[in-house]
Amino acid sequence: MEEIKQKHSETGQGASRSSNQMQPSNFIRDIIDADLAAGKNNGRVHTRFPPEPNGYLHIGHAKSICLNFGIARDYRGLCNLRFDDTNPSKEDVEYVQAIMEDVRWLGFDWEERLFYASDYFERLYQCAIELIKKGKAFVCDLSPEELRRYRGTLTEPGTNSPYRNRSVEENLELFARMRAGEFPDGSRTLRAKIDMASPNLNMRDPVMYRILNVAHHRTGTAWCIYPTYDFAHCISDALEGITHSICTLEFEDHRPLYDWFLDQLDLGCHPRQIEFARLNLTYTLMSKRKLLELVEKKYVFGWDDPRMPTIAGMRRRGYTPESIRAFCDRIGVAKRESTVDMALLEHCVRENLNKHAPRVMAVLRPLTVVIDNYPEGATEYLSAINNPEDPAAGTRLVPFSKTLYIEQDDFMENPPKEFFRLAPGREVRLRYAYFIRCVDVEKDPVTGMPTVLHCTYDPDTRGGDAPDGRKVKATLHWVSAAHSLDAEVRLYDHLFTVPDPGAYDGDLKDIINPHSLEILKGCKVEPSLEGAAPGDRFQFERLGYFCVDTTDSGPNRLVFNRTVSLRDEWAKILKTKKW
Ligand code: ATP
Ligand code: MG
Repeated sequence: MEEIKQKHSETGQGASRSSNQMQPSNFIRDIIDADLAAGKNNGRVHTRFPPEPNGYLHIGHAKSICLNFGIARDYRGLCNLRFDDTNPSKEDVEYVQAIMEDVRWLGFDWEERLFYASDYFERLYQCAIELIKKGKAFVCDLSPEELRRYRGTLTEPGTNSPYRNRSVEENLELFARMRAGEFPDGSRTLRAKIDMASPNLNMRDPVMYRILNVAHHRTGTAWCIYPTYDFAHCISDALEGITHSICTLEFEDHRPLYDWFLDQLDLGCHPRQIEFARLNLTYTLMSKRKLLELVEKKYVFGWDDPRMPTIAGMRRRGYTPESIRAFCDRIGVAKRESTVDMALLEHCVRENLNKHAPRVMAVLRPLTVVIDNYPEGATEYLSAINNPEDPAAGTRLVPFSKTLYIEQDDFMENPPKEFFRLAPGREVRLRYAYFIRCVDVEKDPVTGMPTVLHCTYDPDTRGGDAPDGRKVKATLHWVSAAHSLDAEVRLYDHLFTVPDPGAYDGDLKDIINPHSLEILKGCKVEPSLEGAAPGDRFQFERLGYFCVDTTDSGPNRLVFNRTVSLRDEWAKILKTKKW
């Protein structure tokens, strides 16, 4: 619902001034169109996606990736991948590798433009020296605690540091000694000299460099001072010739500082920072810090646990890159925060899989059916349609025999009125096969649960209707017992019990959905799934879309993840709202 309101009110519709666009317009594209019309940047459009390698990418990052790379594609511009690796204590090469894999998998290509903020450490250092020489930066000896106190509050101005008026020479010397490793962590910083009375806290002599005696995953121990995000980001953008630096709303208040650094330095390029609202999704956490906590406390099985909102988790779960891109297009881009319903993402996944996933039959909770009047030891092969949405997908042959499995919950001994599936004395259709009628039920003497259903089949109903015109009210999926393969199936539900887990500040354990993972071990699948490769996706008829697990499935073990069920909550929402 939110996405639609948002689209109409803020992103606008209709033709745009740019002739090379493939997407509906949004306010960012409007800004770019205006810049192009005004002849800015010599007609160039150059964006970047700047992840910090301190965790895996999540679906929110996918929005940013689709936005930045999508704009570059549609304006025949360029988009860089740049690792914003200025905080070595939290970063790791594992994340660098994972991020590259995820961006590629989503279908985007940075070509030869892979950059790291750490590539610019020397340039950044020289920029800092230039600011010192211009009297625009100073070395400050205040401790982190004192820095906080001097900063003031939203209602009270800050206080000038007692070190603010050091001479240029003294600042140059101290900064060189900071770099040389003469001082302990936290003992000094380099700060911009702006305005301690500014109503914008970011402008109150912000820190540009801090001392951090930590090895960096790329530069090793070459540096013991590291630039802050605010200082490094704008300069990295300028050095790469970025024209439009697109970021999320929390950086809006940092924009004056972004512009201030670039104005002081005159690097020959002044990118335009544009902020948009980050993606929030119901039932989903989007903070890397909290996702890391889930992994470290082992509340999930890793960053690529299929319940995680990470790209790696969604890939393993069976989501396609096309469906994630379609989702990002549909939610659009706005200036106002909103929360998108998870059902919309799942709707996009279904829409894509419906077109492409082959249909097969699988029984998750098997109940044995014996066809009493079917010849012992006989097998026949029945023609089944691979994908009704795609005639080119053709048909396959499915074996039928005397002993079959159906789903336990497709049978009830004492059915209520609204239950139309199999019951004693009742007739149903087996998909692609025959009408069968239940004539007897064997039960477990202890539990009373049905163990074997005895049925008869009508040979005249093979693959179709009864010649005498009699009807059945249900069609069931099934597999032939002797021909079926064993499989493990993992069913997933929301990871959290509350729709807004981001707002919860207790231990995440308390809001984890205990039913978010259900493992079914004794499943039976049709023999055509022999040799299914990790990552292959299928529709199990009547049950949902499933994907062969890339980690635990192997030549002698079939493991499936349920990607999504067939029930489309989003379609229901749309219907009730009459859109
Ligand atoms: P976190 O706050 O969880 O650490 P982050 O925003 O700091 O995430 P980055 O690696 O810095 O993570 O993000 C890279 C880019 O992705 C940034 O431009 C950021 O604005 C964007 N991004 C991050 N989260 C979202 C989101 N939920 N929706 C849209 N864009 C996002
Ligand atoms: Mg960030």
